[in-house]
Amino acid sequence: MPDPATQDILENSPRLNLDTKFNFRCGPSMDCFNRCCSDVAILLSPYDVLRLKNALGMDSSEFLEKYTLTMRSQEKRIPAVFLRMHEESRKCPFVAESGCQVYANRPWACRMYPLGMAEPKGPNAAAQRFYFLVEEQLCHGHKAGCEQSIREWIEKQRLEPFDQMQAPFLEFMSHPGWEEPESRSEQKLAMFYMALYDLDRFRRFVSETRFLELFEVDEARLHAIAEDDEELLEFAIDWLAFSLFHEKRMRLSKPGSRSSAVPVRTEETCSSPR
Ligand code: SF4
Ligand code: SF4
Repeated sequence: MPDPATQDILENSPRLNLDTKFNFRCGPSMDCFNRCCSDVAILLSPYDVLRLKNALGMDSSEFLEKYTLTMRSQEKRIPAVFLRMHEESRKCPFVAESGCQVYANRPWACRMYPLGMAEPKGPNAAAQRFYFLVEEQLCHGHKAGCEQSIREWIEKQRLEPFDQMQAPFLEFMSHPGWEEPESRSEQKLAMFYMALYDLDRFRRFVSETRFLELFEVDEARLHAIAEDDEELLEFAIDWLAFSLFHEKRMRLSKPGSRSSAVPVRTEETCSSPR
């Protein structure tokens, strides 16, 4: 059963599509500038975490510890990672008077606002996914009168890589295997959290444990996951689908064989904060 807010959206929000037009404008000239960056629940996808920790030049464990809050869903206890607001001011840690300090790498939810996306639970959920408009009193952008379609908004906000990286994750999250209590043991949920959100720790887990004795991973993929966090995230989903739902996305090693060790990164790929 979805939470009450999601239920309300599913039942009552007009279902918009990519060609739906809406009025909205946002920017430093608005009298509400930055108001939307306080006291807000921003759910982070694994790709959001990847972008932010790299933009800040931080290790994933350090980033998660400093900037996030992990909650568990009531029914299934699956971890969900949120941006941690400042304890007293309730402001987002990345908001400054001049605006968002991680703008080029801001999360999906911040890019999409004032739009949201929802899908009913059950089979074929992705095909029934729809957009909805969020209208809050604090935001004056709806009155600023700049018409665009949702498709244009998505393009302007550079959401494409986020949507692309998010698709396998959303598919994984709507897997029917989640219904099985065995897939949700504490050990498996800890694997889920590490592999998807704590990517640098997952990379060390792959290279420093017996992982490569247990699984066959070809050379090209080993090199890719050593160098590239996006490749590592895709690999993490394959490993989790195998480990939690028994999907044949990984191959177990034959006795006596071993994949080569994960090569060490040779150069720093993180960029500095804006
Ligand atoms: S990440 Fe940026 S856009 Fe998102 S809430 Fe924080 S300051 Fe605002
Ligand atoms: S409150 Fe609305 S219009 Fe104002 S800065 Fe935030 S998103 Fe833009």
